[in-house]
Amino acid sequence: MPEEERPLVGWSRVADSPEILETIRKNKRWSLGFALFLTLLFPAGFLIAGLVSDAMPLNEALIIGSGLGFFMLAISLWRFAKMKRRTWDGVVVKKLEKRRYERDDDGPSQSYMEYIVLIRTDRGKKKKIVERKRGGEMYDYLEIGERVRYHPVLETYEKYDKSKDEVIYCNVCRRRNPIGNDRCERCKNLLFK
Ligand SMILES: [Zn+2]
Repeated sequence: MPEEERPLVGWSRVADSPEILETIRKNKRWSLGFALFLTLLFPAGFLIAGLVSDAMPLNEALIIGSGLGFFMLAISLWRFAKMKRRTWDGVVVKKLEKRRYERDDDGPSQSYMEYIVLIRTDRGKKKKIVERKRGGEMYDYLEIGERVRYHPVLETYEKYDKSKDEVIYCNVCRRRNPIGNDRCERCKNLLFK
C-alpha cells in the first residue's frame, strides 16, 4: 500500500487486507497442525514406552499418555476459543507496576515486577495487559488516554494514533520496528499503519 494511503492516525486497513487474511489463514493451519501433533505425541510416546520398556506396564502407559493427550487438546481448544473472540476497541485508563512474589519451597521467595495496562473497552468492559518484563513492550508503548484496538486472531494490539511514535510493533510476530517501515523486519508482513 502506498505511503499516502497509510496515514498514521486511524485504524489500519492492513488488518482486512487480503495479504494479512492469508497470513492469518496460514498461521491458523499451522497452529492446528501443531495442536494435533501435541495431542497425539503423548499417547503415541507412552504407547511405545509401554510396549518396549519393562519399567512401565502397558495399561499404565496408556492411561498417562491419553491423559496428557487430552490435557494438550484442552489447552489447544481453549486457545482457539480465545482467538475467535471479537475485535474490541478501548481506551487506556491506567498503568501500574506491582511487585509480585514467587514462592519457592526450596529457597527464598523470588520477587519480580508486573507491568499492567488497564483498558476500558467501548462496551464498558475492563481489559488488562500484564507483562512481566519491562522491555519496551505494551506498557511503554501505550499511554494513558490512548485508543487501542485488540486483534484477537493475532493476539496483538494496535494504537489509533501512531503519529507521534518512532516505533511500531508488528501485529503478526510482535517485533518492534521503526515507524518508517512498511513491512516487518523479521516476518516481512505488512505493519498495521
Ligand atoms: Zn513481524
